[in-house]
Amino acid sequence: MVRPHLLDLKPYSSARDDFQGQASVYLDANENPLGSVPTGNFNRYPDPHQVELKNALAKLKGVIQDQIFLGNGSDEPIDLLIRAFCEPGVDEVIILPPTYGMYKVSAAINNVEIREVPLNPSFQLDVPAILENIGDHTKLIFVCSPNNPSGNLMRVEDVLKIAQQFDGLVIIDEAYIDFAASESLINKMDQYPNLVILQTFSKAWGLAAIRLGVTYSNAEVISILNQIKPPYNIDYATQEAGLLALQSKTKKDEFVEDILSEKKRLLSELINFPQVVEILPSDANFLLVRFQDAQKINAYLRSQGIIVRDRSKELNCAECLRITVGTAIENNSLLESLRRYS
Ligand SMILES: *Cc1c(COP(=O)(O)O)cnc(C)c1O
Repeated sequence: MVRPHLLDLKPYSSARDDFQGQASVYLDANENPLGSVPTGNFNRYPDPHQVELKNALAKLKGVIQDQIFLGNGSDEPIDLLIRAFCEPGVDEVIILPPTYGMYKVSAAINNVEIREVPLNPSFQLDVPAILENIGDHTKLIFVCSPNNPSGNLMRVEDVLKIAQQFDGLVIIDEAYIDFAASESLINKMDQYPNLVILQTFSKAWGLAAIRLGVTYSNAEVISILNQIKPPYNIDYATQEAGLLALQSKTKKDEFVEDILSEKKRLLSELINFPQVVEILPSDANFLLVRFQDAQKINAYLRSQGIIVRDRSKELNCAECLRITVGTAIENNSLLESLRRYS
């Protein structure tokens, strides 16, 4: 499946690759030995293989380090997967709208053709249509579960059926899995070697600013991503922050619990507004809400300093606004504003 020219690629070998282990004097990487401006210990290059962080993740997720790739957010593995497996102008990827926008943008940047197979009106996979659209040059299928913007999980049987029948990689974007009622598909990787699972520190872990995405797959796929990544793609501060986060997993669980209970409250209040037509079932930290007139509501909320995401141009999302669950105070402001609007 790999693009042929990559099979002979000799990856960049960093100073930290040429010498591993402990030494007392490091004069091999042209670093500044005196320290960092203005302060801090940032003068040495970070571990290009992020061993400590991967080790902690491997323990938490029950996988081995060779099944983990760390990226600069999820955007980096999305791009690297396309670059590793799709020949520009020849190969293609399947995406399932309405879905996360980055798959399409990344494919377009790489001059890789996109086939769009819409989710059905309940935002579930249209399995027969997906299988029909797989061609000789289809390399990747991007499945977002829970899906952004609709919020629902895809049925596991459907995802696995596609994985079974497709002779390419099925990429499951699980950015919101911490909020979901069902488990990650990481535990299906051994049975389905063509699964690639994307997770991120940006949502439940509250670390969007550090840009840390995690990819889980079989060791061969991970090894290809490692060969083509920029050598120091995860900086030192990010590796440290990720490690600290993993040591405080209960805090993440508490955040998730609080957000889910606010989501439930928000849902129960929103449904009473006459302007709300429906609220889509959500396994994420946001609600997709269909209004009678989304533009007007959106404009009014903005005038009140409340920003939500207009998704009404997305397939089957007419009149829909995507509302992230905020703090109790933020959610109350939203509800107040909607009451005033009413
Ligand atoms: C927010 C989000 C991500 C996270 O992207 P990062 O680059 O890791 O911040 C990934 N996929 C989906 C579907 C998202 O909504």
